[in-house]
Amino acid sequence: MKSKVFDMIEKERQRQENNIELIASENFVSDDVLRAVGSCLTNKYSEGYPTQRTSGNRGRYYGGCENVDELEEYCCSLWRQVFNTDYHVNVQPHSGASANLAAYMSVLKHGDTILAMSLDNGGHLTHGSPVNFSGKLFNMVFYDVDASGRIDMQDVRAKADACRPQLILAGASAYSRTIDFKAFSDIAKSCGAYFMVDMAHIAGLVAAGDHPSPFGLADIITTTTHKTLRGPRGGIIFCRPELASKIDSAVFPGCQGGPLEHVIAGKAIAAAEACSPEFAEYIHNVVKNCKAMCDEFISMGYHVVTGGTDNHLFLLDLTETGLTGKDVQNELDKHRITLNKNCIPGETRPPQLASGVRIGTAAMTTKGYTASDFVKVAHKIDDIIRSMK
Ligand code: PLP
Repeated sequence: MKSKVFDMIEKERQRQENNIELIASENFVSDDVLRAVGSCLTNKYSEGYPTQRTSGNRGRYYGGCENVDELEEYCCSLWRQVFNTDYHVNVQPHSGASANLAAYMSVLKHGDTILAMSLDNGGHLTHGSPVNFSGKLFNMVFYDVDASGRIDMQDVRAKADACRPQLILAGASAYSRTIDFKAFSDIAKSCGAYFMVDMAHIAGLVAAGDHPSPFGLADIITTTTHKTLRGPRGGIIFCRPELASKIDSAVFPGCQGGPLEHVIAGKAIAAAEACSPEFAEYIHNVVKNCKAMCDEFISMGYHVVTGGTDNHLFLLDLTETGLTGKDVQNELDKHRITLNKNCIPGETRPPQLASGVRIGTAAMTTKGYTASDFVKVAHKIDDIIRSMK
């Protein structure tokens, strides 16, 4: 039975080795991250926080935590270094969704109003989708994008003035443009709302200086560690020091039990890697490659949402081809090109079909692809799409 499992893992290893991976939220971690995540730390229970923690809650509910205490504190200090910040850090969230749940629970009450970006426009499920806890627990109001697909800051201001939200959220899963955190922060201040940034997708770009930083502007910042940050699957929350206790209590015991110390070790390794000049160089290449590939699609006549990209991803609007995102995703799968169908602004199809596909360059840049490799892949995708019409 065990060998069957290892066979399945091996098959997945080969798939990852052989396919062209364009899913914007995926990446390939280093052997050191894999080693840390596969370590004996998976055996350890450590509910609570390191006893020597200098901000937020402290103290564990189990014995034998001296090593994981040291690890978790070190991990937090490394992440502060990555973003050059003195914000409080909580590295325990199991995922981006858990980080967002805890962030909301730390400062909001059931029924409070959140102003965010809807899923159709590029937001995430946890940004208020009616099928998610966020849409069920809170009163969601969504700001719009303009005709080109860019966030409409006038609409953000008008909606904030009208609904007086308790929290304004910036950040997205499928948005290819720079987000103006300063403008969001000014609006949040003017209506007395908390300002939260979910930088899950662009965190690597923020670390490398390729996207403006939300630190110093946002009250709470959440991220995943497995996308452009190239770490293990997981979440992190940063907050202003005065919110440290609320955030820590919301994570544990509010939303989670024991932290995954093996994943925290992986997060520490990823942070150490993200501090290096090689990581900044890698992210610069991700952005350069993304622009090259996106420009190639535009020159072949494709409609790209917002007309281009400033980051690691872009969205192809397939409406004019008559094909759904699902059709294209499935056909590309047969040619070992992996991406995901995605809703586009003003979407008319259900999300299971969708009218667009999302393309990202973080994973294949890790594998050494250059701008000219991505241009070749754009032509390969175009050939496949043409053959489907
Ligand atoms: N926030 C954003 C902006 C995301 O794009 C994602 C995942 O794609 C998440 C949160 C959730 O992360 P996870 O899948 O780890 O729960």
